[in-house]
Amino acid sequence: MDKIYLDYAATTPVDSRVLEAMLPYFSDSFGNPSSVHRYGQRAEAAVEDARETVAAVLGCRPEEVIFTSCGSESDNLALRGAALAVRQQTGANWILTSRAEHPAVSKTAADLEKHYGFHVEWLEVDEFGRLLPEAVEKAICKETALVSVMYANNEIGTINPIREIAEVCHRHGVLFHTDAVQAAAYLPVNVDDLGVDLLSLGAHKFYGPKGVGALYVRKGTPLLPVLTGGGQEGGRRAGTSNVPYLVGLGEALRLTAAEREARAAHVRPLRDHLIGAVLESIPEARLTGHPAERLPNHASFVFRGADGNALLQLLDAAGFACSSGSACKTGNPEPSEVMTALGLPREWGLGSLRVTLGAQTTAQEVEQFLQALPSLVEKARRR
Ligand SMILES: *Cc1c(COP(=O)(O)O)cnc(C)c1O
Repeated sequence: MDKIYLDYAATTPVDSRVLEAMLPYFSDSFGNPSSVHRYGQRAEAAVEDARETVAAVLGCRPEEVIFTSCGSESDNLALRGAALAVRQQTGANWILTSRAEHPAVSKTAADLEKHYGFHVEWLEVDEFGRLLPEAVEKAICKETALVSVMYANNEIGTINPIREIAEVCHRHGVLFHTDAVQAAAYLPVNVDDLGVDLLSLGAHKFYGPKGVGALYVRKGTPLLPVLTGGGQEGGRRAGTSNVPYLVGLGEALRLTAAEREARAAHVRPLRDHLIGAVLESIPEARLTGHPAERLPNHASFVFRGADGNALLQLLDAAGFACSSGSACKTGNPEPSEVMTALGLPREWGLGSLRVTLGAQTTAQEVEQFLQALPSLVEKARRR
C-alpha cells in the first residue's frame, strides 16, 4: 500500500533544487567562514549570499538577518533577547502574547516569567483562534516590553491580522515579534508591509532542511545574545555557521517567494474540496480555525467523541500520515492548548485532526483519504 503524506505543517521534504545548492558546501567548499584564508572566504561568501537572498525576500538589509539553528531558536532569541534588552533600557517587564502560540513562544514566555521575573499576559483569541488588535490595544501599557503574536497558526491554520497588531504596538512604542515559521510557506513576509520588528523563520516548513532558521531584527531593535561565544552573526549569535544549511535556507526561501502563488493555487482547491467533503460526510464534525483567513494548504477538524490519537494510528495503519495539531503534542491525552483556547469542550477538543497538503499532494491522494476517513472516525469514536 502506498503511503500518503498529509502532514506538511509538521515538516516538508527538501526540494531537490535546494539539496543541489547545498551539496558543494559539505565537501569542496567546506571552509569555516570565520577563517582568513580562501577556504574561509568562499564559505563566507556563500553565507553572505544566503543572507542577501533572505534579506531580499524579507525586504530588509542583510545586517538585519540573524541565522539560527531552527525556528524555535529564532523564537527564543526574539523573546529572550528583546525582553531582556528592553527591560535593561526602560525597566518594562511585561510580555503580551496569545493563548494559541506555538510552544517555542509560549514555553519561552512562561520561562521568562518563572525564572527571569517577567509578567506574561496571555491574550484570549476568538472562536477561530485569531488574536484581534483590540485585545492588544486593551492590554498594552507602558510596562509592556514586547508583544509576540504568530503570523499563522500551525495547528488550525488561522492567519492573524499582523499588520493591524503591529500598528497598535508602534502607536504605544512597543516592540512586536511575529513567529512566521508556519506562515512563510504561503504568505508574503515583507517586514515593512507587516510592520514587524522581529520575525522568525524555519527552513524545514518551506522545503528547506531541518535544523536551520533565521530571525529578522529591525535595525535599532535592542537585543541581547542568547548564545554567547564567537562573534558570528554580528555578535548576536555565536557558533560556526552551518554553511550548507544556510545556503539551503536561502535557496528554499528564494524558491518559495518565486513560486508562492503557484504553490497556493495547487493546494487551495484540493484543500477546499477536502474540507467540504469531510464536513458533509462525517456527522458531528467541525472545522477548527478560520474558514477563510487560513493557510491555503491547511485543513483541521474536531470530531465529537473521537480519540484523536487513536484516529492518527488508524490513519497511519491505513497509509495516511496526518497529525492532531502540534507534532509535539502526540501522546498527550489532554486537548491541546490551542483547542482549549478556542473554547472547545473536552469531548470535541480530544478528537482533533490536522490534514495539511503540499507540493506533492495529488487530487487522487485526497480522494483516497476522503474514502478512508469516515469509517476510521467511527472506529476512533467507539474506543
Ligand atoms: C514548526 C514551528 C516552530 C518551530 O520550528 P523548528 O524549526 O521546528 O524549531 C515554531 N513556530 C511555529 C508556528 C511552527 O510551525
